[in-house]
Amino acid sequence: MRAMYLNDDATTLGLVFGADSYADFLTRTEMLQRTSEHDKKMIDEMLDAKHAMEEALAEIQENKAQVEQDQSALSDQKANLNQKVQEVAKQEMQLADLQKEFEAQKAQKLQEEKEAQAEIDRIYRENESIGDYVGGDFIWPVSGYRTITSYYGWRFGGSDFHTGIDIAGRNSAGQAIFQKPILAANAGKVIYASNSYTPGRGYGRYVIIDHGGGMSTLYGHQNQVYVSVGDYVEQGDVIGEVGTTGWSTGPHLHFEIRENGKHVNPKKYFPGI
Ligand SMILES: [Zn+2]
Repeated sequence: MRAMYLNDDATTLGLVFGADSYADFLTRTEMLQRTSEHDKKMIDEMLDAKHAMEEALAEIQENKAQVEQDQSALSDQKANLNQKVQEVAKQEMQLADLQKEFEAQKAQKLQEEKEAQAEIDRIYRENESIGDYVGGDFIWPVSGYRTITSYYGWRFGGSDFHTGIDIAGRNSAGQAIFQKPILAANAGKVIYASNSYTPGRGYGRYVIIDHGGGMSTLYGHQNQVYVSVGDYVEQGDVIGEVGTTGWSTGPHLHFEIRENGKHVNPKKYFPGI
């Protein structure tokens, strides 16, 4: 170009480069160079920006996948929770049904208990006590069996009044109480004895002995009754055997002591229990 300049061939250069003069050409060349540098810088910046955007996009896609995964897990958990809520609701309904059933059974048991008591009250009304009480101390009605599984008084949280004591279990030799002899706690006259009974109801097979002076004893849930109404028994006579007839959940003797037909705490006559 220097040669061209020296040979005053600037016109050719001007034609080639579209410059009116070499000065113009120089300016143009410099501009071209600067423009190129500027463009390169811009391209670099754009490439950087593009790269950054691609990275950001990749990150967003990764996050999106994670969010979708979380959503799926959450949706599973929600379904699971809904199922549990339904199960609980179902259980609550079943519980309510059971509660109703229990209340109905309780009411029925109380009614049956009342009926059993009414029967006993009738027996006492129809039987005047024989003379004075001359029997002295009572003896324990099942020799060798001292376990009391239910005491006299309110039980089952105050829903049921237990009118006697329940003697159950095994003796010291390990023998179960079932079918063991029941002894008359004192001498007296049998005013009630029955071998017929309604299963699941009241005292089952039971005996009442009048000891005179308004004192009497009752022996419930017997497997067998050996005495009859009108019999006179001595203290210690075998009147039957231990069973689980009537409203009873296992072999035991339900033993009551009554004064003028009213049940009293047997502890009054057996202070050691
Ligand atoms: Zn009882």
